[in-house]
Amino acid sequence: MSNHLPRPKTEDRRPKTQNPMKKITIAIDGFSSTGKSTVAKHLAKHLGYTYVDSGAMYRAVTWYAMKHHFIDKDHFDIDALVSHLDDIHISFVFNKDVGFAEVYLNDENIENQIRTLEVSSFVSRVAEISEVRSQLVKQQQKLGKGKGVVMDGRDIGSVVFPDAELKLFLTASPENRAQRRYDELIKKGDIVLYDDVLKNVQERDYIDSHREDSPLVKAEDAIEIDNSDMTKDEQFQIILELVNKTLK
Ligand code: C5P
Repeated sequence: MSNHLPRPKTEDRRPKTQNPMKKITIAIDGFSSTGKSTVAKHLAKHLGYTYVDSGAMYRAVTWYAMKHHFIDKDHFDIDALVSHLDDIHISFVFNKDVGFAEVYLNDENIENQIRTLEVSSFVSRVAEISEVRSQLVKQQQKLGKGKGVVMDGRDIGSVVFPDAELKLFLTASPENRAQRRYDELIKKGDIVLYDDVLKNVQERDYIDSHREDSPLVKAEDAIEIDNSDMTKDEQFQIILELVNKTLK
């Protein structure tokens, strides 16, 4: 008989993913700058899922409209934009240097261009247009067809994937969200004022939740998470537990 005692097992404290073979759809909706994309990206990476930033698609269409002078602060030629929708091809290409997929418009990388306060100031008006929405929703449904997807936006749990196995709805106070977005823009080197960022967050909240087509609403079966006083890590752990429960 061996006199070696069995080696004590070291406890693996890393969060485990239940039933990794089962693939689900995770819809993350909520107000502007609630940190949806940060947590969605992190979650997709952890689960080996595809991440789709649906807001980036509305931003890409907005950027196209700006570039073609269909929209500026004094006018918006909706008909011109709608007649060009078939010329707008949006794709996501994984960039291993940054660790996530970047947005391309007709083969041009526009990841940085679409994140400016100027694009943010027009995007909700573009997102009100039903023709824009139906075109993008179709593409989003195609991207999530095979499951194993984390998609964030405003109508993912209510319109794009009403049958998603897990739906989350993130909230935080407008001041809190504006501060986060302001810090992000300043870190990138953009010159912006906190008050302008707050105004933009509030305007987008209003337009997004009052538009006729697919307004921002919490789906009945969505789980609401107010992350005003949570660290990113705390929020991630809570969401991971919900994922694990759903996968069981
Ligand atoms: O998520 P993000 O802030 O980048 O989204 C930009 C804008 O795109 C939102 O303020 C909203 O007007 C629009 N949007 C939408 N439906 C989605 C995602 C974004 O209307 N599913």
